[in-house]
Amino acid sequence: MLELDKVQAGYGNKLAIKDVSLKVEDGEIITLIGANGAGKSTTLMTICNVVECRAGTIKFQDKEIHRMAPDAIVKMGLCQVPEGRHIFPQLSVKENLDMGAFLRNDKEAIKKDMDYVYSLFPILYKRRHQDGGNLSGGEQQMLAMSRALMAKPKLLLLDEPSMGLAPLVIRQIFEIIKQINKENNTTIFLVEQNANQALHIADRGYVMENGRITLSGPAQELLANTDIQKAYLGI
Ligand code: ATP
Repeated sequence: MLELDKVQAGYGNKLAIKDVSLKVEDGEIITLIGANGAGKSTTLMTICNVVECRAGTIKFQDKEIHRMAPDAIVKMGLCQVPEGRHIFPQLSVKENLDMGAFLRNDKEAIKKDMDYVYSLFPILYKRRHQDGGNLSGGEQQMLAMSRALMAKPKLLLLDEPSMGLAPLVIRQIFEIIKQINKENNTTIFLVEQNANQALHIADRGYVMENGRITLSGPAQELLANTDIQKAYLGI
């Protein structure tokens, strides 16, 4: 579904990611883990062409996307939930969801998808007339994920969904990610510092250090790897 081949990107004269190659297959949950500043968010931003791809190729469903405009990439079915959520604070919950469906005009299906996200997160239905900015951090994360689902993505990119949330809310968010993957047939590419939780729901994982992929494999293998346990799992 998604393939990066020797991708380089950065800021000014500094390369933040170097020769990054990875694959996401249809239906998988893939996680990219790594320390602060490793280059994880830059990888996601480059896939969406918010940060320019300076070398290499990015293909989504066999089509090169690294020179396409970000909105055209969204239209193809690739959507990102950015780090820090970036919901619209002065719009209501319902209006935030409407914005997620901005590029669509299939009214009936939009209504069905809104019912679906309300069923995933009943609290959002309860707060549908409330300003997004008045929601708790966990509720804002739910809203950001729901807004992205309203674009009907085939592949959902999630940047640190657990950031700043209480352990109970994190567990709930990770359960819902699994549910979206299974029920809604949405492929997931999950960037996380919370390696333990991420590897527990993922099929496969990639480890990033200093802008390079240094290790990859089935999630269960990475969880059992003693170097990973020491560096990322606190074992
Ligand atoms: P974190 O988990 O802290 O978000 P990350 O793995 O997502 O880290 P990136 O945010 O991709 O890492 O950062 C990779 C490198 O690029 C870091 O050295 C960072 O300082 C630098 N960087 C990120 N964004 C910018 C920017 N807008 N301008 C300049 N440098 C940046």
